[in-house]
Amino acid sequence: MKNFKLLILLFIFISCSKNIYKISEKKYNKKAKKLGKSLVSIEPDTINYQISDVIKSQNFNLRKPNLIVIHHTAQDSCQQTYKTFALERTQVSSHYVICDDGTITQMLNDLVRGWHAGGGSWGKNTDINSASIGIELDNDGKEPFSYAQINSLVSLLEKLTTKYKIPAENIVGHSDIAPGRKTDPSALFPWQAIAKSGYGIWYDEQKLIDLKLPLDFNPVFALKYIGYNTSNLKNAIYSFKLRFNSKEVSHQLTEKDKKILFLLMDEI
Ligand SMILES: [Zn+2]
Repeated sequence: MKNFKLLILLFIFISCSKNIYKISEKKYNKKAKKLGKSLVSIEPDTINYQISDVIKSQNFNLRKPNLIVIHHTAQDSCQQTYKTFALERTQVSSHYVICDDGTITQMLNDLVRGWHAGGGSWGKNTDINSASIGIELDNDGKEPFSYAQINSLVSLLEKLTTKYKIPAENIVGHSDIAPGRKTDPSALFPWQAIAKSGYGIWYDEQKLIDLKLPLDFNPVFALKYIGYNTSNLKNAIYSFKLRFNSKEVSHQLTEKDKKILFLLMDEI
């Protein structure tokens, strides 16, 4: 009898844990259906009644993502992240979550607008969520990223950049697009190794040693040229150093930083 009760409890536990994301998945399907329906109609009166007629063309497909934003979750486990992204009240999500052991979980179709970037900009792009795919790495911000996780990230980047023809320079960190507000992925993220695999940019380290900067070199222009929002220059510098000179992160540009900036302009 005791064993039977235990069996029932185990059954309830397994069914509950299996259905843990059922509500979120049901709402996803409902929302996707609603979005599909909204594509069928073109409202002639949506822009100040200036459109007098609608004639539907058959030549179209869905818009594609053209930017990839890398994050660390700042949470304790992948399970915690899944729950956060599945709950409606959190109002946050990401297309992919990569666990410490390299497991990749997809939570949104690549073609829908995820809620991972928040306010921010990159170059002239001021709506990062509309343009991008969000990839969250399960990491608390203090620990190194595991080999398995980075390996999975590189395979995912390969798949996404090929599928959507996303250029290397359009792979950025959350801190790049939101200086002063975000510092993920942390200084431990291996940007240089990722760039060597062909994703994201890096500078030519051989040229750094003997480089003499031109007298008229403008580092603020270089930061802007790369994509940083320089309206708060100190924050932009901090984000830049977090990515390209992560052993000397500060709000000040050194001579070495200026040389890195100069060389980075060649990579875009
Ligand atoms: Zn983030």
